[in-house]
Amino acid sequence: MLVELTQLTITGIRDSLTRKQTSAEELVQAHLAQIEMRDAEVHAYLWHSPERALAQARRIDQMIAAGEELPPLAGVPTAVKDVILTKGSPTTCASRILENYTAPYDATAVKRLEAAGACILGKTNCDEFAMGSSTENSGFGPTHNPLDLTRVPGGSSGGSGAAVAANMATVALGSDTGGSIRQPASFCNVVGMMGTYGRVSRYGLVAFASSLDHIGPFGRSVRDVALVLQTIAGRDPMDSTSADVPVADYAAALDRDVSGLTVGVPKEYFTGLNPEIGDNIQKGIDLFAKLGCKIESITLPHTDYAIGCYYIICTAEASSNLARYDGVRYGFRSPEYDGLRDMYRQTRDHGFGAEVKRRIMLGTYVLSSGYYDAYYLKAQKVRTLVARDFVEAFDEVDVIVVPTSPIPPFKLGEKLDDPLQMYLADIYTVTASLAGIPGISVPCGKMKSDPRLPVGMQIFAKHFDETVLLQAAHAFEKSGGFDMG
Ligand code: GLN
Repeated sequence: MLVELTQLTITGIRDSLTRKQTSAEELVQAHLAQIEMRDAEVHAYLWHSPERALAQARRIDQMIAAGEELPPLAGVPTAVKDVILTKGSPTTCASRILENYTAPYDATAVKRLEAAGACILGKTNCDEFAMGSSTENSGFGPTHNPLDLTRVPGGSSGGSGAAVAANMATVALGSDTGGSIRQPASFCNVVGMMGTYGRVSRYGLVAFASSLDHIGPFGRSVRDVALVLQTIAGRDPMDSTSADVPVADYAAALDRDVSGLTVGVPKEYFTGLNPEIGDNIQKGIDLFAKLGCKIESITLPHTDYAIGCYYIICTAEASSNLARYDGVRYGFRSPEYDGLRDMYRQTRDHGFGAEVKRRIMLGTYVLSSGYYDAYYLKAQKVRTLVARDFVEAFDEVDVIVVPTSPIPPFKLGEKLDDPLQMYLADIYTVTASLAGIPGISVPCGKMKSDPRLPVGMQIFAKHFDETVLLQAAHAFEKSGGFDMG
């Protein structure tokens, strides 16, 4: 019984609660037990908040007892990536420099989730300050992929992906700057989505690269992801970049017929990828054809420049955003130093890990006078071209279907000595980030050579067209996308 409770979707939870087959408290307890059982080997969580989750569960149970109408996410056990603020508990960004930092307020997304009845179980592991693609850059040890513990769960939101995959949470929040929700969703065989830039408030998300950062959901079904997204989306006066665009009832629109949609397939995304992944994605595209969609070959000519462009812009913004960790305002301060300048130096030297330092140096370099025009300014221009490619493509197609990652989940340690290899594997996710369009990753079968390893398929849509994106993803999932392989 307990195990079954950890496998429920949001709809299943609602059914069980309203039929009084289970209580919200039992649901939370079942998840705490599952964490106890699985997390020693997976290490998806950095911190737990059982009191917070149980207090919320008891409130929900009281509402049920009083016969009140339940909010949409009542009793849903939820994990939150540790770059998102949760009042009164640690928010470390998996960095030693924030080891002793306690968040003074809740992120808007967290507040909205709790107002909708969700129970926050704890904070998940990630790459330090969300910089990475494997969760190995965490200052507190890596997360393991629950599908094969010798492999990475992807990153940077690897803890959130792994928690949902291993039934240690029903849904989770992650952050996505260049793929950090979509790629771990793909590696962990779950659904993960980044909305349009500005769709979800970033208030309470620790900044990495502000022009690219998003908060978004993980779930085991497209419907769960739609339900979380519509809860956290919408204008927030605390984030001036949050968009004042109405939020549709995405979940209610999921079952609309997708026949007649035009699916674009850009040829640039099908060279240099693992051929087995290519085969699965091709099968996925064939499935869209069977669903009555029109498949159209398109071109996104600036795709090749996206990695260079992304790694200039995100490091430039990171070098500026991370200047605030000076040993005075937040968290850690080096215990030994000689004067103020040395205090800054020692604090940052001991507090930051190697990847974060690499990015601060790279970002400072591309912004420095003499190099600004050659790198940063050029990258901004290229970003416009990448975005324009998409705008032009969406004149002709409704959605675009591509792989999420060119490679399957790799072994822990395999790419640690070669950061460039790790960067290059972000090629299919950073494009949508640069363009600010929404993207989702859905499971698309398993690798033929190792059926434990999942393949993820990405779908993009035009700005603020989350409804169509989710409809396409849902139609794919329903028609057997999960069992291909
Ligand atoms: N892997 C990418 C990077 O390291 C994306 C990270 C993210 O989306 N937070 O920058």
